Amino acid sequence: MKVPFVDLRAQYERYKDSIDAAMQSVIASSSFIGGEAVRRFEAEFAQAYGVKHCIPCGNGTDAIYIVLRMLGIGPGDEVITTALSWISTSETISQAGATPVFVDIDEYYCIDVEQVAARISPRTRAIIPVHLYGQAARVEVLTELCNSRGLHLIEDCAQAHFSARNSRRVGMYGRAATFSFYPGKNLGAYGDAGAIVTNDDGLAEKCRMYANHGAMVKHQHEMEGINSRLDGLQAAVLSAKLPHVARWTLERQAIADAYNARLADVDGIELPEVRAGSSHVYHLFVIQTDDRDGLRSFLAARGIETGIHYPTALPLLEAYRRLEMSPADIPRAARSTGRILSLPIFPEMTESMIDFVCEAIRDFFAARGS
Ligand SMILES: *Cc1c(COP(=O)(O)O)cnc(C)c1O
Repeated sequence: MKVPFVDLRAQYERYKDSIDAAMQSVIASSSFIGGEAVRRFEAEFAQAYGVKHCIPCGNGTDAIYIVLRMLGIGPGDEVITTALSWISTSETISQAGATPVFVDIDEYYCIDVEQVAARISPRTRAIIPVHLYGQAARVEVLTELCNSRGLHLIEDCAQAHFSARNSRRVGMYGRAATFSFYPGKNLGAYGDAGAIVTNDDGLAEKCRMYANHGAMVKHQHEMEGINSRLDGLQAAVLSAKLPHVARWTLERQAIADAYNARLADVDGIELPEVRAGSSHVYHLFVIQTDDRDGLRSFLAARGIETGIHYPTALPLLEAYRRLEMSPADIPRAARSTGRILSLPIFPEMTESMIDFVCEAIRDFFAARGS
């Protein structure tokens, strides 16, 4: 048996008819950029999310960059974010001309909100938490902090579509939230795609304009912008998939429950925990063990693909050498990057695949005699 990390092919087979039909209709109408399919998806996503505006854009990285720029964040400003994420979260801060200020993670892999206040300086303009792996961060604390200190809260929801904190959806806690629809995300297109959601009319209009060369109406450029639009084909795929996301989330959660039940008594691994009040949509199922690399090669030899999200904490990447940060500044993130392993998880994963993975993990620790 082979167990892939994700299987996008299996998902396509499951919904082939509706996805093919949606793509055919875009090709038939030749609306490749903008057009009906894009308008439809943005309305559907805004409605599904219960938010006033959804501004589609080229990818989840651009979504963050556009929001930062349209909030007027730039040179001389600081933006506080988490030490553990995909680089989009921090590189966009630098792209905007501002400086990322990294804060360590808590025991649930999200930004440690207790450490944020101490990092606020007169230059701080915004905070970007990430609901990492699909589990909601303690955003309510950040909303309060941002309100009292006059800062913008931008939620990076790229891994947490429809996750929630205290029964309220993530993405609804700040000024704006950003999503990625990269193919492997919980809602994924067949190429790059992303979106911004906000209830702020003015910000929504600016973001929409900026993503489309600074024009609402063709040739009337009110400012210089960028080209970050959603393709019609991607929008059609996303519309075909959107109605199924809630079900996929339940399937992901069932797989997580099965992993937790079958691995509970294995000495030597730490299973992911869910914070009271947070929901977890399991974009990733991340365990920890002290022989991560040994376990990873053992699983690979058995045909099981795993991932590491992420092997290096952001501030310790070569890209941030200029910040001169050391593991001692972000001890939790630095320690976990050597121990974390993401197990396969995708809605179409079968019971026998879960068994196969769990058995291999048991065999590894049994052989090690721990
Ligand atoms: C995927 C991801 C992004 C960026 O998304 P792209 O669509 O690939 O640009 C941003 N932040 C996080 C946390 C992500 O996982």
